[in-house]
Amino acid sequence: MADTTVNDIIALCKRRGFIFTGSEIYGGLPGAYDYGPYGVELMRNIRNAWWNAMIYSRDDIEGLDAAVITNRLMWKYSGHEANFSDPLVECKKCKARMRQDKMRDPTKCDNCGSTDLTEPRAYQLMMGLSIGAVAGGEINAYLRPETATTTYINFKNVLDAKPHKLPFGIAQIGKAFRNEISPRGFVFRMREFEQAEMQYFVDPAEDEKYFEMWKFERLAWWVNVLGIPAEKLRFMPHEKLAHYAKAACDIEYEFPDGFDEVEGIHNRQDFDLGSHTKSQNEFDLHAKVLDNKDSVIKLAYSDPQAGKSFIPYVIETAMGVNRAMFAVMLNAYTVEDLGDGKTRTVLKLKPWLSPVKAAVIPLARNIPELQEQASNIENALRKLAIGRIEMENSGNIGKSYRRHDEIGTPVCITVDHQTLEDGTVTLRYRDTMEQERVPVDQVPELVRKIVMVA
Ligand code: ATP
Repeated sequence: MADTTVNDIIALCKRRGFIFTGSEIYGGLPGAYDYGPYGVELMRNIRNAWWNAMIYSRDDIEGLDAAVITNRLMWKYSGHEANFSDPLVECKKCKARMRQDKMRDPTKCDNCGSTDLTEPRAYQLMMGLSIGAVAGGEINAYLRPETATTTYINFKNVLDAKPHKLPFGIAQIGKAFRNEISPRGFVFRMREFEQAEMQYFVDPAEDEKYFEMWKFERLAWWVNVLGIPAEKLRFMPHEKLAHYAKAACDIEYEFPDGFDEVEGIHNRQDFDLGSHTKSQNEFDLHAKVLDNKDSVIKLAYSDPQAGKSFIPYVIETAMGVNRAMFAVMLNAYTVEDLGDGKTRTVLKLKPWLSPVKAAVIPLARNIPELQEQASNIENALRKLAIGRIEMENSGNIGKSYRRHDEIGTPVCITVDHQTLEDGTVTLRYRDTMEQERVPVDQVPELVRKIVMVA
């Protein structure tokens, strides 16, 4: 079958209720999308998988959920206010606006090919807010453009509440906002998106070791947990490093248009805690930071054995949850040739990533005994608390299977006349389309096993 295109995914997302255009009935808003009934489930499952790997499977990382609306000073000292910009180029002929570093050829308009372009201008990516007493006035706060900085400023809060020895980390999943010049590629580049980021605080002498460790930990997660084949992923080390970075490497996924970033791993040295700490002069900072007269807390680590206080280095892992879901859907989307010109579309997701874990399908709508039996099975499955269980009451078995293939439901349970006679139901498996009859009382355990397989 033909290779999956972005348009295949866009069509499926709309048809089956994964992702809709944001503000759609008013003509949409570039870079904003709304997640529908199955999209929210898939996003939630990816978030949970990340949280499970980063927090529940280890004892050296704590969770945090910081505010999205943030004090302006945070972004002054982080350097974002002065430097978080992209080079904007406009085409004088067709008026297209482009990000120069992402243009196919920086001397030609991506849209019309004209060479009559403006000089690049720095375009501020943060979304400023005017809140409180000065509403309508000047910018006095920002929607955060990443979760990381809100983690750094909570370093001491977390450490005081939950003491740790180095190395230890703080992880967050949450919304980030960027005034992207040209949102593109469906949910690849949005203006409002979600990040799953972890900041690992290490002794400066051990930074290289942990940078390498996290590169491979994260790559393994993409393969083993999300089920992306290793050959569709690669490391892409940054050639040009930000002034504060010692090393940076992206994990790239092979999208239909080629490899592109889904996650970054960065060695940020002592720049972040060093930028936001009080009493910067007391520390032997490696990074060049703005002189901070506003911070009221020292963001340092006290080593009881060495009897000294110092600013740890940061190894950051930064993943886009929307991009992860997009990659997962592209990878799972399969069109199978059934012969006789027939095809079926299947989302071959890992079962526990599936938006619906199991569908119960009574064969007829008008037979109360079938409906009752189906309800009993549905209730028994809900008690497992494994996620969404759906009753599929369309009365058309073929249509029901097609729908659940397309949204990736790993197993359907069909209740028919034979169920009433011998207490068995049909389990129909998504990937193989195989069917088997099993006793009703075995269904919950069988479904639990199917869904729990990683
Ligand atoms: P890019 O180079 O694509 O602009 P970035 O290097 O600025 O991305 P980071 O700041 O490292 O991205 O953010 C971490 C992750 O957040 C990225 O790997 C990506 O998955 C996700 N991300 C960043 N910007 C966007 C966006 N505009 N829309 C959706 N996801 C994004």
